Amino acid sequence: MTKRAIESLSDLQRAGLIPAPTSTLQDVADTFRIRMTPEMHKAGDAAVNAQFVPTEAEAVIRPEELYDPIGDAAFSPTAGLTHRYPDRVILHSTQTCEVYCRFCFRREGVGQEGALPDADMEKVLAYLRETSAVREVILTGGDPMVLSPRRIARLMQALAAIPHVDVIRFHTRVPVVAPQRITEALIEALDVRPAVFVVVHTNHAAEITEAASEALRRLTRAGIPLLSQSVLLRGINDDAQVLADLFRTLVRNRVKPYYLHHCDLARGTSHFRTTIAEGQKLMQTLRGDLSGIAMPTYVIDIPGGHGKVPLVSDYLTRTGTGRYRITDWRGGVHDYADPPREDPTSA
Ligand SMILES: *Cc1c(COP(=O)(O)O)cnc(C)c1O
Ligand code: SF4
Repeated sequence: MTKRAIESLSDLQRAGLIPAPTSTLQDVADTFRIRMTPEMHKAGDAAVNAQFVPTEAEAVIRPEELYDPIGDAAFSPTAGLTHRYPDRVILHSTQTCEVYCRFCFRREGVGQEGALPDADMEKVLAYLRETSAVREVILTGGDPMVLSPRRIARLMQALAAIPHVDVIRFHTRVPVVAPQRITEALIEALDVRPAVFVVVHTNHAAEITEAASEALRRLTRAGIPLLSQSVLLRGINDDAQVLADLFRTLVRNRVKPYYLHHCDLARGTSHFRTTIAEGQKLMQTLRGDLSGIAMPTYVIDIPGGHGKVPLVSDYLTRTGTGRYRITDWRGGVHDYADPPREDPTSA
């Protein structure tokens, strides 16, 4: 059991997580940074290890895979900011993470040291001040919760001073992978006028250790609403029972499952990707088994920067004007008719 994070192939070998690395694996390690926290090593679970331990499969780059799979770069008004939807922006406050996930859609950018430079942050804040359509600022990275509580406090104050910012949302893996970072000082920093939501990235129930559970509790006790996002990963959580376990564990920890992401087209990640049909089948199975509050929305980020849309299963077929056939969660089929409406064009 290591106290230090695992950050290299030799660390992984010492921890017994890989045999002697091949030159292919060395190439992978040179291209995509390695990091696994002691907490995740302690979890000691194959489905957890597979998210952080590099494999030779990452050397396989498929033609459809992209450097910028979700097309963030095309929507950046100033360094560190992505503004695709009118009412919300993504602020890349740092490129660093506590762990480096082998399937990360930002794997080309993450891992560079340091927070967004102050001069860039000033430009981001200036843009936000003059763009009153923006109601929500989503902090991501990298992982915004690797920043010091002091730095986070300063950013919270700056955002709180912009009257049209109603919501500040953190997308983070920290409460789960590095729970010791959820300190009193951090929680105090989050106590600002805009509503702070924390979206926890987690993919398997085995990640929610006792320490993670306690960190989530510290956040909910402070009145911070918690949501989750997970990535559908072949061989890790592409199983109805595994997903049901994850979502039930989250609800038990007062976390509302928000999104299940179809795995993005990042380079060297095809071994993690399921088909869309497999994802929809899993969601259909869960629909009957799981409480509605435990169900996330299955979404895809359309490659090329066209945004996120739900990958809804085909519950509804249109059979005529105002007439539908609806399939229930068991597969039963039912007819449905809208109330008659006068044709507005004939009025
Ligand atoms: C995902 C994403 C958001 C947030 O989308 P929600 O559906 O509100 O969670 C905002 N901006 C960009 C650029 C995104 O990729
Ligand atoms: S923590 Fe998030 S941003 Fe960082 S490597 Fe994992 S998925 Fe990517």
